[in-house]
Amino acid sequence: MQKENLWQSVLAQMQLEISNASFNTWFKNTNISDIRENQVVISVPNTFVRDWLHNKYRKEILKIIRKINPQIKNLDYTVNPAIKTEEKFQKKGKEKNEESNINQMSFQELVVDYKTGLNPKYTFQNFVIGPFNELAHAASFAVSQNPGSLYNPLFIYSKTGLGKTHLLQAVGNKIQNELEGKNVLYIQAQKFISDIISSIRNNKMDDFKNRYKDIDVLIIDDIQFLSGKEKTQEEFFHTFNELYEKNKQIILSSDRPPNAINSLASRLRSRFEGGMITDIDYPDTETRAAILKIKASERKLSIPDDVCYYIAENVQRSIRELEGVLNKLIIQKQTKNNPINLEETKKLLKNINQSSVNSFSFNKILKAVANFYEVSEKDIISPSRKREVVKSRQMVIYLLRQELNYSYPYIGKKIGGKDHTTIIHSFSKIKKDMQKNKEIEEELSYIRESLISV
Ligand code: ADP
Ligand code: MG
Repeated sequence: MQKENLWQSVLAQMQLEISNASFNTWFKNTNISDIRENQVVISVPNTFVRDWLHNKYRKEILKIIRKINPQIKNLDYTVNPAIKTEEKFQKKGKEKNEESNINQMSFQELVVDYKTGLNPKYTFQNFVIGPFNELAHAASFAVSQNPGSLYNPLFIYSKTGLGKTHLLQAVGNKIQNELEGKNVLYIQAQKFISDIISSIRNNKMDDFKNRYKDIDVLIIDDIQFLSGKEKTQEEFFHTFNELYEKNKQIILSSDRPPNAINSLASRLRSRFEGGMITDIDYPDTETRAAILKIKASERKLSIPDDVCYYIAENVQRSIRELEGVLNKLIIQKQTKNNPINLEETKKLLKNINQSSVNSFSFNKILKAVANFYEVSEKDIISPSRKREVVKSRQMVIYLLRQELNYSYPYIGKKIGGKDHTTIIHSFSKIKKDMQKNKEIEEELSYIRESLISV
């Protein structure tokens, strides 16, 4: 298998396993630059991504690669900051016919303009409207025609996977393509935060400010991540005001309304509330079926109506999950030559449902925490007092209590026969630590993210 195709398989699989946010953050602008003997060399845009891939996703990547090519034993990395996505895309375009549909799709996923952060695959044309998102769509569309004058800021919130990023990006793309000379910047809040932190650390705050000074449309996705980050909030407040006063458009998304974001400075909250706030709800069955049709046709696939309706009726949570099912059907078709019909779909959904009933099970939590801290699951339920192990154990206890509502004695039993007072102690320790130490909260949110998969 060619190295491009090998990497596309990894990307397609990883996309199913981790959230869009993580995927975009860690897999954007990555590729395989070489395969030598038993080693695959992954090219990454910077050392930060390299370390993160290595620490958090190495095992998973290797697992996927080894399924296709069992000879591969190791991953290596090369840092290649000069990857320019557009050039790659143009080159790719010529070879397009040789590639299968899914490869094109996953590739499109990666065509993010490095200057604006915009991905052209998100447009208003391929955004399906229904009663659940009508208002958010209308407000976004209006802003895209008249940035900076109508709703400022525009604040869109919803549960995950319901179309916030798609809408935000669609606004950015439309402005970028249709209004001349507008500087658009789309950035994930996590990236914004890490930019600020590193600018402060390296005494480069002036550079940071300069970068934002000339922006006409600033789009920040998943702003809830600012929660509790005081220094970042302060800097953001200044950036916000400076742009706002110049009538520049600001668009924000969050997984909850401004008044529900914990530890958000009140001056920021009132700024957020000063514009237009709109939410996106869960879509109805009709719209879910329509979305599936669109997504399938984007991949030049036609899916029988009964299959569409079956999926739409049975996958009721997020649109991302709907797409996940479609992806799985396509992958099965590609790898096992399974046809896309009602029977196969029922089988697939049965498997998925079984695993998602267990999605927040004891085992899954144990595994997610063990993966994250790179300790073994066995150690976590052993009496080991090693620092990393103790920390992981506390995290497991916390999640079992928070996510599964397990009783303290039951948690004790599950994690190696510990007394319930020990469990209560661990639980309150993490809770307390979280208030003092934002890192723990962040780690927790990464672990939670890795728990959410189709
Ligand atoms: P969020 O940012 O709210 O978590 P996304 O915008 O990433 O959600 O949406 C998840 C997936 O669902 C994306 O692939 C997106 O294209 C798709 N999607 C969401 N809403 C719609 C819609 N109304 N029409 C078409 N696709 C949608
Ligand atoms: Mg999003």
